[in-house]
Amino acid sequence: MNNPQKNGYLEMPIWEGHCHCMMYHKAERTAELFRRIMEYYEYERITICAIVNESDADHPADNAVAFYVKSKLNAEKPNSVYVYGNIEHYYDERDTADGYLEQVKRLVAMGADGIKLLDGKTADRKRLNRRLDDPIFDKMYAYIVEQGLTVTSHVGDPRANWDITKVSEYARKKGWYYDETYPTLDELYAEVDGVLTKFPKLKLNLAHFYFIADDYDGAVAMMEKWENVSFDLTPGGEMFVHFTADHDKWRAFFTKYADRITYGTDTYNQDPGPSLDDYENCAAAGRRINQLRTMLEKTEPFDDPHFGHLVPLGLDREVLEKIYYKNVLKNNGDSKPLGNALIAQYCKDMLCELESGVIKSGDDNKQAMDVENLKTIAAWFEK
Ligand SMILES: [Zn+2]
Repeated sequence: MNNPQKNGYLEMPIWEGHCHCMMYHKAERTAELFRRIMEYYEYERITICAIVNESDADHPADNAVAFYVKSKLNAEKPNSVYVYGNIEHYYDERDTADGYLEQVKRLVAMGADGIKLLDGKTADRKRLNRRLDDPIFDKMYAYIVEQGLTVTSHVGDPRANWDITKVSEYARKKGWYYDETYPTLDELYAEVDGVLTKFPKLKLNLAHFYFIADDYDGAVAMMEKWENVSFDLTPGGEMFVHFTADHDKWRAFFTKYADRITYGTDTYNQDPGPSLDDYENCAAAGRRINQLRTMLEKTEPFDDPHFGHLVPLGLDREVLEKIYYKNVLKNNGDSKPLGNALIAQYCKDMLCELESGVIKSGDDNKQAMDVENLKTIAAWFEK
């Protein structure tokens, strides 16, 4: 039995709009893992959001691996996999407006279906040391709007992470408590407002429900003010607690803004073991899926080991169809063709940068895997 059968979820097409391939495996293994995940969860389509820079460790080959998975799986079943490409930062004078524009143009030419940004995650924003609405990004955003691309952007963290008396033990251990050396959540929100003021037509998909489920009026204001803003549901499970606390209000929100909410779970290229059953309780490709689908579809209250007593939203079928599939389909259409020769060249250029030390992976072992994968992927796309 697969996951929907085991848990009694509704039979309908699902598009998992927020996956990552950042776990270090050989590229071929990553493709195989996504093949298994799609089969076990009965996913019709997935979007892999690449992330090359991250505050605690960079994974420079991430765009290349994502294109490889797309190439492999779409050859078996067209339109299975979409890639949201990620821009790279050097954190010095090499970062320029034209540089960012050229990176996005190159990603699109290689076959990116949209753009993923992590720069608004609190620790990454601190590392970037630049406002999200800095003019250096204007040319890039202008091009993204002109091309009609969607940006999936992670901005902020749960508000409790700024409060030493409220931050969860888990977040504190992960280093996600933010003192005064970090931007505040309201400063980050103001920067997003700055981006949207300059680019009001931007199709901006704010990940993790924008960490705004503790502020119902703020969530409504975002929806009312910016017509192309949408919220992605990737947990941030603290949102489940807020949905439960004000259940009827939030249920009505989901129904009213059903066209502007998308399904995602932060599913990684996780290898849980030999049996597909092992996915059920696997954090990076299982637990969050079950929490989210239960919260959206079911009506019986349940006790979650992490978030306590939760009351599901029990959304109507038409609402779920939009959240699970139709909204993302409307925004993305068919998966864009891959520029094979361009991807091969991109891999070779990155190999030079890694070998000369211009960019680095998280550690030596990861760098060795990145080098091996880039060689494999260059050869694959050169054929
Ligand atoms: Zn994510």
